[in-house]
Amino acid sequence: MNQSSFRNDKPTIYFVSTPIGNLDDITLRAIKTLKKVDKIYCEDTRVSSKLLAHFDIQKPLFQYHDHNKDVALKHIEKDMTDYLDIAVISDAGTPVISDPGFAIVKTFKKEANIVPIPGVSAVITALSASGLPPHPFMFYGFLPSKTRQRQKLLKSLETKTETLIFYESPHRLSKTLSEMKKIFKKRDIVIARELTKRYEEFIRTDLDHCDDLSPLKGEIVLLVAGYTKPEMPDDLTILEEITQYMNDGLTSKQAIKKCAKRRDLPKNTVYMEYHNN
Ligand code: SAM
Repeated sequence: MNQSSFRNDKPTIYFVSTPIGNLDDITLRAIKTLKKVDKIYCEDTRVSSKLLAHFDIQKPLFQYHDHNKDVALKHIEKDMTDYLDIAVISDAGTPVISDPGFAIVKTFKKEANIVPIPGVSAVITALSASGLPPHPFMFYGFLPSKTRQRQKLLKSLETKTETLIFYESPHRLSKTLSEMKKIFKKRDIVIARELTKRYEEFIRTDLDHCDDLSPLKGEIVLLVAGYTKPEMPDDLTILEEITQYMNDGLTSKQAIKKCAKRRDLPKNTVYMEYHNN
């Protein structure tokens, strides 16, 4: 199902990004869009009415949240049959990204144009200035709140080579960091705090030193360097090297091939050395 966003007469649902702190980060297109739509759905009307008042936008605001999802989806369905254009915003940043809104995209992607109005998202803002390899990266969002589920999840990420990005609350940060230290061992991390706001801060450290951190307040993005395989020491014997590859999951045949290639030796020489020991 293709969507030619601006070349049909379907109603449009705009997913409009809003600032994550500094109001100057709103885009001209976001303001224009919010001024022209018929209605705006938001996460919390108290939060969004302040934003709209700041930019002198007078539009009817309706709440859309996970807890009133079914009722709100019915309202949006009616909006679509009435050919209304609507906007969806969240409290801050890009709607849908660790925010309500995904069910709207899923439900109406056939009968409406789903149009993103891009802008700030905390994940990209943090990554761009973190100093960690920007790609590939893996954005996880919020970790599970239950300890066992969280630890299981962290374990499943242990050997991911991508830069890992999480949203985290300040009161759970130190617990998460000590769990990460146990599972990920020594890794560089960056705590990106209060982005775009007066107390913006990037703490670039590693998991070994995170016990020294004083308690942090505010909104936090936590970035963790991806897994890197320890370098193969130069003084290993052929047998030790092959054993190490096999411990990493290679078959003996694959390990012999890899060892021969790394040492620039004929495969047969490595094979004989391995089998004669
Ligand atoms: N949709 C938003 C986005 O595009 O980034 C994210 C919404 S999520 C409900 C809120 C979380 O995003 C916060 O708990 C925090 O982890 C992160 N966040 C939002 N604003 C932030 C900021 N100014 N500085 C650091 N992290 C922020």
